[in-house]
Amino acid sequence: MLFSAIALSVLACVATVEAAPTNEKRQQAQVIYGCTQPNTVALTFDDGPYWYIYDISNALTSRGAKGTFFFSGNNYQRIYDQGAIDQIKYAYNAGHQVASHTWGHKDLTSLTWDQIHDEMWRVELALQRIVGVQPAFMRPPYGNYDDEVLYASYIRGQKVVIWDFDSGDSVGASAAESKERYRTTSLNRPSTLLALNHETIESTAHDVIPYAIDRLQSAGYRLVTVAECLGEQPYQWTGAPQTPTSDWRC
Ligand SMILES: [Zn+2]
Repeated sequence: MLFSAIALSVLACVATVEAAPTNEKRQQAQVIYGCTQPNTVALTFDDGPYWYIYDISNALTSRGAKGTFFFSGNNYQRIYDQGAIDQIKYAYNAGHQVASHTWGHKDLTSLTWDQIHDEMWRVELALQRIVGVQPAFMRPPYGNYDDEVLYASYIRGQKVVIWDFDSGDSVGASAAESKERYRTTSLNRPSTLLALNHETIESTAHDVIPYAIDRLQSAGYRLVTVAECLGEQPYQWTGAPQTPTSDWRC
């Protein structure tokens, strides 16, 4: 049912979704605030695809670590720009997890039911096209969600990922301050960490993340994807990437 709705929407370039249910007992997507597998850290990166993904991916890979990228569709770059396509493929092929940050970085709690689905399906479709996966996880912009967002996510087979550690890079923290947060947390040594960072900030890519990886690994953590830190699968299904066509615009 959902799959056919998505297929139809591809043709029309407009989301066609089930009507919002009126019954009170709606199902809700699980909301994840932290990892469950002991001794793991999931470093997550929002707001890409962006140029710094290469340096972040390489910093992770060279240290035997994995990360998770929550991509927007139309934020710092358009997801169908060739540069963005290349960036997504690079991170995915390096073994990092890719997931949805929804299309236009809107506060989903301010949108209608149809608009919420529209923001969601466009990025899912893009990831199906570009790397051949249907993500099992999404992060709502600003971490904002309500019952409608959770029900829409549930219908789409996705869990909602928040965080339990914020590097502060998107809210004015300097690189030194972000590094201090990682240093202090490494010393406090919680069992797990689900860390928010932003792919679009140069000092995050070039300074904070290399430092954070080294500190966290020195503290004995395994740096893994969100799916791995939960012991779950990253994607609802996987298939072959598609060849770009003129339809790749929305
Ligand atoms: Zn964001």
